[in-house]
Amino acid sequence: MSQQIRRTKIVATLGPATDAPGMLESLLEVGVDVVRLNLSHGTHDDHRKRAAAVRSVSAAIGREVGVLADLQGPKIRIERFADGAVELGAGDAFVLQCREDAPAGNAQHVGCSYLGLPGDVSPGDVLLLDDGLVALEVVRVDGTDIHTTVTVGGRLSDRKGLNRQGGGLSVDALSDKDRADIRLAAEIGADFLAVSFVRTAEDMHQARRLLQEAGGQAALVAKIERADAIPVLSSIIEASDVVMVARGDLGVEIGDAELPGLQKKIIRESLRLNRAVITATQMLQSMVEAPIPTRAEVLDVANAVIDGTDAVMLSQETAAGAHPDLAVQAMRRICLGAERQFEPQDDLQADAHQLDRSDQAIALAAVFLAARLKVRAILALTESGATAQWLSRYRFAVPIYALSPSEKARRRMLMLRDVKPIAFEHGHMDPVYSARAAVQSLFELGKLEEGDRVILTHGDHTGHGGATNTLKLLHVGERGIAESLKDL
Ligand code: PGA
Ligand code: MN
Repeated sequence: MSQQIRRTKIVATLGPATDAPGMLESLLEVGVDVVRLNLSHGTHDDHRKRAAAVRSVSAAIGREVGVLADLQGPKIRIERFADGAVELGAGDAFVLQCREDAPAGNAQHVGCSYLGLPGDVSPGDVLLLDDGLVALEVVRVDGTDIHTTVTVGGRLSDRKGLNRQGGGLSVDALSDKDRADIRLAAEIGADFLAVSFVRTAEDMHQARRLLQEAGGQAALVAKIERADAIPVLSSIIEASDVVMVARGDLGVEIGDAELPGLQKKIIRESLRLNRAVITATQMLQSMVEAPIPTRAEVLDVANAVIDGTDAVMLSQETAAGAHPDLAVQAMRRICLGAERQFEPQDDLQADAHQLDRSDQAIALAAVFLAARLKVRAILALTESGATAQWLSRYRFAVPIYALSPSEKARRRMLMLRDVKPIAFEHGHMDPVYSARAAVQSLFELGKLEEGDRVILTHGDHTGHGGATNTLKLLHVGERGIAESLKDL
């Protein structure tokens, strides 16, 4: 009971390194809450096999795990070189050839996957390749050729990504490959679908329509990674279920110096609009090779926890790293440390929250009382998970057990900080009886003990989402029998 409960959720990307025998078991056992399938790499069959492996390991170890399918999106890439890679020196002239029949590249030119690029750039624009490791300045556009001067030289290899500093490229948000990948996500029953390079709320609406047409039920994740998304951030967040601070491409487009401020702003705005938020990319980058993180990485993960993120994410560290299991262990350890050492902010001034719904009002009241009555936990009897999501937005460091009969709702709640979803059938019980049964089952799971105080929320009519209208103060009696909490 005295064991510390981890509050922040961990997302880990699967890849060749996690296909090693026993590796997936080890990752899920250490505490990965959601696995990410990166659809930029691998075949549909690779992803089908990995999703099936996750479902079967999760059943075997008795822990629910969410699956996030991450679309490639319209990432612009250069084409291939005749000999795999070239060295570009500062001051060199270099041509991007934006046509179907561009020849294999060399140190003077290379093809580009986005044929519309010449129409989008003008002299003086800076194009960043391979996350900014090589920079080109546009000199002139001549038909399908973009003539540039290398301003930052380096090694450039096949199919590296290309961004324009400042953003503003007009390429469509969802490619043909993305449409096929959305059908795959529906087929494998993904719990989350991430949309890359979102520019506007309409991009999210379009993805949602395609997902629905394909019969998918995933929650939609908006990856904030384009400069264009920042001025319309709130509307994009409102059009999504979960938000990702996609620091890799975002840092390239807006410049690394803007990243810390934007990370905080995106997290704050997501919480304000009642959405879950993931902080992603290069969190433990050195662990792609090393068995321990750098001090700077430790501070980065801890700072994201302090900023209030719901989840932290591992990419290359697990998908292609030398020690995927050590990376997850490090993530877990750092989250626990940050959660232990930093007091949550009390942001419960009543006038800071506009109240629109009864479940939201009950959640705010529950958290307000939880802080003052020293309760062990908040128990939410919830169909859709809505009450648990409201409860977790207040970041109050009280465990929230979300008891729901819906597997879909429970898996979505795996992304919420402080929330521990628990399978619970309360369909035809009357509210007094179901409250007792809820306390009893947590007592039996060892999550509550005699003498604990808990707050429980529920609706009058179970079986309807968003209908929470009741809050109870309970005391855990002998053998886990719930009693009214009379003396405060
Ligand atoms: P990616 O997205 O890993 O799919 O590029 C995350 C990011 O850009 O940070
Ligand atoms: Mn990206």
